[in-house]
Amino acid sequence: MDFNKSKELFFGNMRRISYIHAAEALLFWDMLTIMPKKGAEARARVLGSIESEAFRLSTSDEYGAVIENLTDNADKLSAREKRMVEEASFEYTRFKKIPADLFEVFSETKATAGLIWRQAKENNDYEMFKPYLKKRIDHSRELAELWGYKDKPYDAMLESYDPALLTSQIDPIFAELLSGTRALLSRVGENVILPKVSVGDGSQFKVGEYLLKVIGYDLEAGNLYTTEHPFCSGIHSGDVRVTSKYHADNPLSSVFSVLHEGGHGIYDMNISPELEGTNLRDGASMGIHESQSRFFENILGRSHAFWNAHLGKIEDIFGVRLAKNADEFYCGINAVKPSLIRIEADELTYNLHVIIRYECEKAIFNEGVGVDVDELPELWREKYREYLGVVPETYSEGILQDSHWADADFGYFPSYAIGNLCAAQFTDAFQKQHGPIEKHVGNSEGMALIGSWLKENIHKYGKEEKPEQVMLRVCGENVNPAYFLKYIEEKINRIY
Ligand code: ZN
Repeated sequence: MDFNKSKELFFGNMRRISYIHAAEALLFWDMLTIMPKKGAEARARVLGSIESEAFRLSTSDEYGAVIENLTDNADKLSAREKRMVEEASFEYTRFKKIPADLFEVFSETKATAGLIWRQAKENNDYEMFKPYLKKRIDHSRELAELWGYKDKPYDAMLESYDPALLTSQIDPIFAELLSGTRALLSRVGENVILPKVSVGDGSQFKVGEYLLKVIGYDLEAGNLYTTEHPFCSGIHSGDVRVTSKYHADNPLSSVFSVLHEGGHGIYDMNISPELEGTNLRDGASMGIHESQSRFFENILGRSHAFWNAHLGKIEDIFGVRLAKNADEFYCGINAVKPSLIRIEADELTYNLHVIIRYECEKAIFNEGVGVDVDELPELWREKYREYLGVVPETYSEGILQDSHWADADFGYFPSYAIGNLCAAQFTDAFQKQHGPIEKHVGNSEGMALIGSWLKENIHKYGKEEKPEQVMLRVCGENVNPAYFLKYIEEKINRIY
């Protein structure tokens, strides 16, 4: 095939796939925010149909031939084009290895497993979820064998999220993080407990918008809606949707979830418009994306300087006092306390929740026949006892708390902890150029400086660079837990 013709076909197909994904994201956002209840079944059919259309376009023989031709002629491509072809080739090769009948069974089980998981969690009924979990594990094992792996089967799953962070790379990172975290945990003393307050949805929404503006989320390129489980959908750099949920008796929950999702949203807004309609209009990896949400939620959003500047303002909007002063508020929002639920965990113990899930997933997939679904709840309890000193009494507060396994998102969890580590490394890199970050977070010029630094160094590249390239260029090294441990140690020294 002619090289120029291949290029034209490649860009055309990639654009169509990219636009289908944009439409899909919008339909999902709509389904999870404003769609009337009775639209659910029809929406599922529409989504299923356009998903298979994207699958068809991504795996057509013509597209395969075009990718092959461009790969053979890679010397004629720009660095950016080469990266697009490489990404398309990775996806094409993976999809092609899945037999159509397995793909169908896999998609069907996904929908049912999700529904059953929700009911099982509500009813604290592991037995109900168990056969579906077993199916998800078996299918993922099958996929790992089809996809292939160098070292361990679990690596085939990790590779979907970051090919440079497989078991052999993550193991030493998590070992250092685990021992550092446990040492710090032993130094935690008495916590400041903030007063219980009650705040209506309307005021919480206003505070959400206020905070989004403060952190540089462009409200003309993005909005804020209500949902059951907060998420961010980056449809286009000019159309980003973050969502939040409001708990009347816990307004701080939405404060931090808005800062978190806002961080994801700012990343999506700042991806270069030149990558529009390509497979590089995305974050470098799940880990790097999470580093941005964690940066805004924790490094900025749980800093003293941030609340010194904004506590009074959000108290005015809420119409209640949240603490005696910024010092007390700072200590309260940073209190460290081992707990059972990952998404409610503090900054220090959060990573332990992730390490526990990572170790369970390794035990499922890497150790010969693997841990059986009957043994998993006990393994879960043992690890919580060992690392956090707490043991769940119910399945709902234990193994049934996350949706990831119902979705067969094995290998996803490590991204959360990797994100925390990268956020601390990016902060260190920023500080080397601009001095202590606390000097900047309390005023609008400082926040603008932070925003443009993130945009120029990380966001604008989208997926053009691989995650390890981003880390190397910005921080001089790949993921290293020492920076996070130093950051969190300073915080613990300040509070306790
Ligand atoms: Zn996130």
